[in-house]
This record gives sequence, structure tokens and C-alpha cells, in this order.
Amino acid sequence: MTIYSYSRLKCFQQCPQKYKFQYIDWIKISQEETVELFLGKRVHETLEKLYKDLQFQEKNTLEDLLEFLQYEWRKNWDDSIKIVNTKISPEDYLSMAMQFITHYYQQYRPFNHEKTIAVEKHIIVDLDGGDEYKLCCYIDRVAKTDRGWYQIHDYKTCSRLPSTRNIQSDKQLTLYALCLKERYPYIKNIQLIWHFLRFNMNIVSTLSDREINELKQNTINLIDEIESNEQFPRNQSRLCDWCRFKNICD
Ligand code: SF4
Repeated sequence: MTIYSYSRLKCFQQCPQKYKFQYIDWIKISQEETVELFLGKRVHETLEKLYKDLQFQEKNTLEDLLEFLQYEWRKNWDDSIKIVNTKISPEDYLSMAMQFITHYYQQYRPFNHEKTIAVEKHIIVDLDGGDEYKLCCYIDRVAKTDRGWYQIHDYKTCSRLPSTRNIQSDKQLTLYALCLKERYPYIKNIQLIWHFLRFNMNIVSTLSDREINELKQNTINLIDEIESNEQFPRNQSRLCDWCRFKNICD
């Protein structure tokens, strides 16, 4: 039985052939880690520490967090990490990561706007109760406000701010909301919050039950389409330039 994730479903929608390489043939092609990916991981684990410690009433100062970030950065850094823009040094990237954390910390301290109920939450749900449509997700942070809203927080370190259209068509957090609702049916009101750390801003959106139900049906239909697919045709697009299977794709 297959458990589907957002990235797995998205991969099929982007290119069925790529999906076949990655999830059916399990072809392993090693890819260099980029500095952007490395920075994202370090920033995420620093925010994870902030909120996990807060759940146990331990308040980190900004200095504590920056020290943690620098320690983890140096411990994990490897000179094989790819930096495309050679004018920017690893230390510049570290300063950038420290700036993201500093701005975030200054904006949200004393961190009492909402109550964090889970950090790096892993959820697996069964969409039809018959083990055929299983979905999993990892949510950066789930919180609850005094007014009864459940919030799904997602931290982005990307260098571009998406357009409203891109945000509306981004199904990642919507799928997370579906997982949360399926797992905890008593949850009524959900907010999706994207934190764009580089720009020190966030985008908030809400979802109606109708939208979540529609997404559930669309997800079931997409899983049916994947499971019944035998051809896995190529879908060439500008994304081919970043595809790790480019060299083995005809
Ligand atoms: S190179 Fe393009 S067409 Fe080939 S698998 Fe990758 S995304 Fe699909």
C-alpha cells in the first residue's frame, strides 16, 4: 500500500515520467546539496528549537538561538555544498540565516500570540477508511489561537516572494489542512500561514469546509489516476532543466 505525500503527488502532476523514475523504478541519482537547501535546513531547525523549548516553558533568548544556529551551521557544513553565486561566501549565507532568525524573533517575541501545539508534526491519514488512499504530511508548526483558530505555519527561505496567484495555486498547505482535519475532525477553523523569512512578512489564508472536501475528492481522483497509469509519459517543460533525471530521460 502506497502512502502519498504532497511532493509525490506534485511530482506526478509535473511529469509522470519523472514520477516513474523516482517512485516506481526508485532510480537513485545523487545530487549536490545546494547552499540554499542547507540554509533552509538550519533555519528550520533553529525555529524548531525555539518552539519545542517554548512548549516546555523554556524561553530562548535571541543570542541563544543565534549561537545554536552558528553551532549547527559549522558542525554540518561541508565544502562540497554547492554555491552557484561565487561572489557570496558561506559566511555571507550564515549572516543571512542569522538575519532571518533575528527579524523573526524581533517580530514575534514574546511568542504569546498563539499556543504552539505541535512542531514538525508528522501525520498519516486514510482518506476513505479502506487503506486505499493514504496521505502523509510534515507540518512545520501547528498552533491554536484564543479565538479557536488552528494555524498551520510554514517557513520559507526562498529568494522570491510568490504572486497571489502562486499562493492560491500552492496546494501544499491545503493538503496539510486536509490531513489535520481528517486526523482531528473536531477542528473547525483553519488558517494557513506562510512565513517568508527573507522578506520578514507572512501571508495568511483561510479554508472553508467545502474547499477541504473538494481537495479530498481531487486527491482521491489523482491517486486513482496514478494507480491506473501504465504509460507514465514525459511532460517536457522548463522544469526539465532542474530535473535530476535529465541525463537518462530520452
Ligand atoms: S527531464 Fe523533463 S521530461 Fe524527462 S523526466 Fe525530467 S521532467 Fe520529465
